[in-house]
Amino acid sequence: MREECGVAGVVQFKEETHPVPSALRLYYALYALQHRGQESAGITVHDGRQPQTLKGMGLVPEIFDKDDLVSLKGDVGIGHVRYSTCGDSRIENCQPFIVKYKSGSVALAHNGNLVNGLDLRAQLEAEGHVFVANSDTEVIAHLLVKELLKYEPVEALRNVMKQLNGSYSLVIMIDDLLMAVRDPLGFKPLCFGTIDSGYAVASESVAIDTLNGKLLRDVEPGELIIFRDGEVESHQLFDEKYSAHCVFEYVYFARPDSIIDGQLVYRVRERIGEKLAEEHPVDADMVSPVPDSGITSAIGYSKGSKIDYEESLMKNRYIGRTFILPGQAMRETAVRLKMNTINENIKGKKVVLIDDSIVRGTTSRRIIDMVRNAGAEEVHARIGSPPIVAPCYLGIDMASRDELIAAHKTIKGVEAVINADSLGYLSVDGLVAAIGIGRDDLCVGCLTGAYPVEIPGESICQRRQLKLHEF
Ligand code: AMP
Repeated sequence: MREECGVAGVVQFKEETHPVPSALRLYYALYALQHRGQESAGITVHDGRQPQTLKGMGLVPEIFDKDDLVSLKGDVGIGHVRYSTCGDSRIENCQPFIVKYKSGSVALAHNGNLVNGLDLRAQLEAEGHVFVANSDTEVIAHLLVKELLKYEPVEALRNVMKQLNGSYSLVIMIDDLLMAVRDPLGFKPLCFGTIDSGYAVASESVAIDTLNGKLLRDVEPGELIIFRDGEVESHQLFDEKYSAHCVFEYVYFARPDSIIDGQLVYRVRERIGEKLAEEHPVDADMVSPVPDSGITSAIGYSKGSKIDYEESLMKNRYIGRTFILPGQAMRETAVRLKMNTINENIKGKKVVLIDDSIVRGTTSRRIIDMVRNAGAEEVHARIGSPPIVAPCYLGIDMASRDELIAAHKTIKGVEAVINADSLGYLSVDGLVAAIGIGRDDLCVGCLTGAYPVEIPGESICQRRQLKLHEF
């Protein structure tokens, strides 16, 4: 199962005149991280005696109401939003995941994907552990409880991490002790900051902004942060030579107003657009984004090419789950309900259409056809990432190799399928330069097919192979 998610944690220790409950702060943090997961959400708080959880399927505002949140007592808590993916969509898989054991409780929220999750689960099952869900998170929770029976939290975490292969940004509560940990290669983002009453930790800095907080820094790869007695303790448990930050966070997944590993995502996307203009210039009348994913790169392309930025498509921001009746006319309506063309802007124009990525190719084809039908003279597709040629095993729900259009077709072949007059993808070097982090510190597995960790049946990028160097 793929886990593409958002996590958050809050601890409050200062007395305030108008205290906002931790559960409510977590609600706002999760709302800010909604783009990272729309399938389910959950909040667990701890009042010093026991954990209490609220979780459900759907969007953050649909799940929690004010009275429920206010009834969740406790100064410390964690939260989670989960993405709608191919995995089981059921309440058991909602996080935070809680295990009660003889010394207390462990609550855990996870963003990432373990490559060896199934193997670890099989070992634990053989030892008699019982699982209620089918997510990696439950595996990590059981491993942690096992270690906590023998060791203090720091040692216990170190021992758990030695067994995990894959990506994990975790927020954890061992009883009412809040901790945050990032895997030794730092695949998925995780950062923390101060809020007026204490600290917040989150997948993206926008959650800390929303709480009116101040971003302090990223959790480093292999680092464990413990928020204890109003202080931040850092334990660098593993120290790898290289990191493997996910490039797709910058390309598509993260919000543009987030700062991840020192880079403002907006600035990265703007540079992506500028690089695209450099690598794939075209004679055109206007640069237009596929909303919303192509907007910032289109601004960059426009700056780089000196071609005017103009919108040609408008997205309905309020689209939720809709019903459609069968039949072609209704299908057309469903598409138009989501996205409409601004015909007057398009008619007779040569349009450069910018999007962040092509996965299966179906979206590009549909949108290019719409722009053509609206009267465009030419449609040139420019894509803010290189061709996606291999699946992601590390937490982005991409598609299987069979479904990835660029895994089987040349660029000319993709151009024909999506019906563009020309198609230009950003190069891997161009993307790396736009991100501003060295290539050796990035995971480009989906773009090259060589991964920074061992994945059965796939090739490994030797230089960055994880050896688990303890600090
Ligand atoms: P398609 O090529 O039809 O599979 O869809 C590509 C579009 O989906 C692009 O416009 C992206 O903005 C968006 N996209 C890319 N990756 C993902 C993902 N992991 N989850 C959801 N949407 C995505």
